[in-house]
Amino acid sequence: MALLTDRYQRPIDYLRVSITDRCDLRCIYCTPLGGSPKLDHDDILSYEEFLHLIQVAVGMGITKVRLTGGEPLVRKGVTDFCRRLAGLPGLQSLSLTTNGVMLEELAQDVYNAGIRRINISLDTLQPQKFLHITRRDEFDRVWRGIQAAEHAGFDPIKINVVVMRGINDDEILDLAKLTLERPYHIRFIEFMSINNDSQWVLQHYVSSDEILEKLLTVASLKQIVSQHTNGPARHFRWPDAKGIVGIISPISHHFCPSCNRIRLSPISHHFCPSCNRIRLTADGKLRNCLFSDQEVDIKSPLRLGATDAELAQILRASIDNKPEKHCLQSDVFRKCQNRPMVAIGG
Ligand code: SAM
Repeated sequence: MALLTDRYQRPIDYLRVSITDRCDLRCIYCTPLGGSPKLDHDDILSYEEFLHLIQVAVGMGITKVRLTGGEPLVRKGVTDFCRRLAGLPGLQSLSLTTNGVMLEELAQDVYNAGIRRINISLDTLQPQKFLHITRRDEFDRVWRGIQAAEHAGFDPIKINVVVMRGINDDEILDLAKLTLERPYHIRFIEFMSINNDSQWVLQHYVSSDEILEKLLTVASLKQIVSQHTNGPARHFRWPDAKGIVGIISPISHHFCPSCNRIRLSPISHHFCPSCNRIRLTADGKLRNCLFSDQEVDIKSPLRLGATDAELAQILRASIDNKPEKHCLQSDVFRKCQNRPMVAIGG
């Protein structure tokens, strides 16, 4: 099948599907204090509808699907849905991003349903801080969920950490040191202003260079360069570590037309140029950039009986309109551009 690309020749092979807007945590970086308005039940796509759209996308060249949310594991019937998806011809990778709260109960079922790759969000190893960040007292349950995922056989287990200054940046080393004993991928993500007040985000933002500098105080890091495109993550390993540290820099390394030093650096993975994805929201909208509010409704045509060719055309148009780069927080970006790159040993 021909490679699916956008107008900047980026291969687009990855679809992230939010199967629900509901979540059992209320993370301070994701949800306003009073909670977010909930979608009406009828507005959320049924599993049949998701399956239909994913089938069309796979027919066009999408090979990887990640289920996300909200929290995907709170939706009833999710494991059956995973099983049906895993059997879709042409789909090479099916993965899941979860907050881990339900994993203790569901890890084995999800694994048996055919999911092999899992990302678990965990921003702290301290139960009190977990309560502060997520507004729910569920640290122990999530920790047991991670063990359950390991026991079930997931490989790799990726743990996503959103780094926030003054909140959990003091735990960067503790979290990264999990890789010394466990085969986890601990992935540090720069804090982004998605639904939040950008001033507040700016105050708590920590650049990936600063994270790397901290990691280098322990030992040199060897960069792991993969032949396969892993999207925008850069991967490193401490000597003799069982796991890997990942750095995701949506802000400081998102795109740099004017700064050759960063752009041409062999250790930079730029977020936007390596973006290989589109998104399908729980209410059936296509988003071609995480940071864009421009959404294309594919639910209405689907419910009005559009043919697969017509649905494919809507997907194609969304991919064609994918922006070259996001335009988020250029003030933060300008600040980071002047920081020297970190030298990586090993
Ligand atoms: N409920 C699932 C979970 O917690 O993993 C899936 C949805 S969650 C929105 C997906 C990922 O986005 C999580 O790893 C979360 O940490 C990350 N995320 C959410 N808001 C973010 C922000 N403002 N900046 C950086 N990452 C963010």
